[in-house]
Amino acid sequence: MTDATLGRPAHLVDEHPTFVTHLECGLTGERFEADTVQTLSSAGRPLLVRYDLDAAREAVSRDAVEARHDDWWKYREILPVRRSEDVVSLGETFTPLIPVPRSAARLGASWALVKDEGRLPTGSFKARGLGMAVSMAKEFGLTRLAMPTNGNAGAAMAAYASRAGLETFIFCPADTPEVNVREIALQGANVWRVDGLIDDCGRIVGEGKEAMGWFDVSTLKEPYRIEGKKTMGVELLEQLGWEVPDAIMYPTGGGTGLIGMWKAFDELEALGWIGPERPRMYAVQAAGCAPMVRAFEAGERHATRWEDAHTIASGIRVPAAVGDFLILDAVRDSGGAAIAVEDDDIDRWATTVAQEDGLLICPEGAATFAAWEQGLERGLIGRDDRVVLFNCGNGLKYPMPPADRVLATPVDWDAMAAGA
Ligand SMILES: *Cc1c(COP(=O)(O)O)cnc(C)c1O
Repeated sequence: MTDATLGRPAHLVDEHPTFVTHLECGLTGERFEADTVQTLSSAGRPLLVRYDLDAAREAVSRDAVEARHDDWWKYREILPVRRSEDVVSLGETFTPLIPVPRSAARLGASWALVKDEGRLPTGSFKARGLGMAVSMAKEFGLTRLAMPTNGNAGAAMAAYASRAGLETFIFCPADTPEVNVREIALQGANVWRVDGLIDDCGRIVGEGKEAMGWFDVSTLKEPYRIEGKKTMGVELLEQLGWEVPDAIMYPTGGGTGLIGMWKAFDELEALGWIGPERPRMYAVQAAGCAPMVRAFEAGERHATRWEDAHTIASGIRVPAAVGDFLILDAVRDSGGAAIAVEDDDIDRWATTVAQEDGLLICPEGAATFAAWEQGLERGLIGRDDRVVLFNCGNGLKYPMPPADRVLATPVDWDAMAAGA
């Protein structure tokens, strides 16, 4: 049943109070007010949203939350939106955990699940972050939003913002996949291709702030995309009966999802919903753009910009990330690693998973398989480890190899039977 006036599912009309208290600089811990528009901290670093988790623990049980409708809004107590009328929804769902038995068998591994985020509105997990950021923009009365994007984030922002009646300006690197630029345009955004990479597009958004009066929704430059991505971690553990897996393979660009999931696990422990156990977090990058891997291997807490970034996995082609230390801290604290994979291996795994397990994954998702293979070979991951691989976008959004055989008539059935 939907509420026709509000255009969102009826269950969202129920009020679940948020326990948000304040924001905190991810580097220095400096406090900032929650109920006002915030960007980066005074140290120029990402802000993390904090909640009164003791009060939330008293107010709601894990069982009560589990019984609610399965989408990310069921976790309202630990999400930042205060008023239900500000929730912008496009029919979110839990995303399935799909076994990949043949791919696992190839690697001699016994337990692996793909979390298929391609089933979300706009076909990628960027919907989680932007659904939350746009809802907060609506709550704050912002009317014009801007962002740089490699494609999926722009599509998610365009969709949610158009639904909320907000104006958007979106800047893509020139070689962003055609389908992304077109879906962004069709969903009502003002979109441009820019001669440069995502950080060049980000600079334009920064420079235009005064002339255009827009709010910058760049990765981690506003505090709420992390809160949306955090729901991936809560949802995953709910689906696994609140048992943490051994390893999470996450294709890492700006790192919002990895940072968000890591934050979620701490909050779940404070709520008493899980214990102190944590999965090992693996940040997966492409060998042609691997700033986190380089910093991880050098033992550094901050990464330097990766020059001449290139990879077919456009969603993780991010040469510099403002939350680099949050990614690297989580990877290290969890006992995980940062792993770089070659484009050839990404291609090979996309084909293998499609042909043997019937799952059309995106290149970034295929990168997690390549990293899993490498982790097994390097002894970082065990054959019996319970591994969750993130497929973050729908494979239909990416270029596919041509299939151009045309059937000649009359049909030569003998040739077809022989596989010609
Ligand atoms: C954005 C994106 C990523 C990287 O996500 P971050 O959380 O920003 O690191 C990975 N895969 C796809 C398909 C994406 O669109």
